[in-house]
Amino acid sequence: MTRMKKKSEDPSPLPMRICACGCENEFQPTRSDQFHLNSKHYDFAYNNGPRKEKYAEEIDTTKIIRKNDRILEKYFRLFNTPFVKLNLIIVKAEGFKDELFTRIIAIKKGENEYKYHALYKYCYRILKKGDVEYILIQKL
Ligand SMILES: [Zn+2]
Repeated sequence: MTRMKKKSEDPSPLPMRICACGCENEFQPTRSDQFHLNSKHYDFAYNNGPRKEKYAEEIDTTKIIRKNDRILEKYFRLFNTPFVKLNLIIVKAEGFKDELFTRIIAIKKGENEYKYHALYKYCYRILKKGDVEYILIQKL
């Protein structure tokens, strides 16, 4: 982008800024939208900043959901019945994390509709009976 500013316009300099990359260098911005000392600092911020953290978080979430799915698959295949009901402790011992899933779906059984937490290939529902929690596993 080329600057078309006339020399007479805006003679007052912009206030000094601290570089947004985290290096703590102070610099004189030449444009109001300059937040980094130079392009090297901009690139550093881009490659190491919040974007990357967010992306890493997404990868971690996907990994956990995949692992959850594999754990349910293992027990589903082991029992080889349309529905599998297990003590939640069993799958948790394998690393199952019941707070992560892809979406909530409704499955109709007779008159009733039940909310299931869907992963990729399997879905589950947590049931509580007294002090014991059970997991109901079903294929999607
Ligand atoms: Zn910097």
